[in-house]
Amino acid sequence: MCRRFRDLAAHPAVLSRAAGTAVAVRAGAWSEAAHRFLRRCAAAGSLHATYFLGMVRFYCLGSWAAGAALLARAAGGGHAAALYALAVVRFNGSGGGKADKDPRAGVALCARAAWLGHVPALRELGHCLQDGYGARRDAAAGRHFLLHAAARELAAASSSARRRGPAGEQDDHGGAAAASRFMVEWWALMSAEKPAASAADGIRCGAGEDAEEELRLCSHARCGRRETRRHEFRRCSVCGSANYCSRACQALDWKRAHRGRCGAAAAAARWLAAGNAY
Ligand SMILES: [Zn+2]
Ligand SMILES: [Zn+2]
Repeated sequence: MCRRFRDLAAHPAVLSRAAGTAVAVRAGAWSEAAHRFLRRCAAAGSLHATYFLGMVRFYCLGSWAAGAALLARAAGGGHAAALYALAVVRFNGSGGGKADKDPRAGVALCARAAWLGHVPALRELGHCLQDGYGARRDAAAGRHFLLHAAARELAAASSSARRRGPAGEQDDHGGAAAASRFMVEWWALMSAEKPAASAADGIRCGAGEDAEEELRLCSHARCGRRETRRHEFRRCSVCGSANYCSRACQALDWKRAHRGRCGAAAAAARWLAAGNAY
């Protein structure tokens, strides 16, 4: 029976329809076998698997070209979260240099994802239009997209509360939450392992690892994206101590957490800048 199940599970028709929840591997369970399973689902045509694997390769494994190619393939198949992921990559010039930043391309990708109803893309597009970033400034249109994002989020939250079940695809922003959860857990595992490894080595970290240390995670706790080069992410202009992959993450984190911390962080930064620390 196990064999039949295994044969069925390995059937391309099954793999190609693997849903977001089926491919949502947890970071602690990451293994060569999990990687192989995702690769087979992606090869069989599962857009969720292609997107998930693309995010893991791009952000966690640092395989920028391979990761971006997978995201592009999922985006080409109409996967909204992949379109938005590519938008963030273009906004930041991730995996490249500062000169690779392309706000107009980012806005165009965001608009396609927003058209498919992807909430983070609606929010990002709203902020870009309000700020005139990558598109002509249009405060009214920006506000419209932000309201639309809020309304969709509210509807998703109330429908999941009614179901009282596990979060479905709708609440998952098309698999984006599962990929983010993987990345958040991945970096937590990495930082837990690091001190133990360097203590065992008994030697100072090399220059390469020092550079690694300075790559920052997006300060929005549920995002999981990490810089691919130093100073890639935008900083909170008030305190300078929070870093964000996108305007959408910054706005969400402001509402959820940073509003309460920013003042204190800014005061501490001013105190240090005034030469009070010796
Ligand atoms: Zn982020
Ligand atoms: Zn701040």
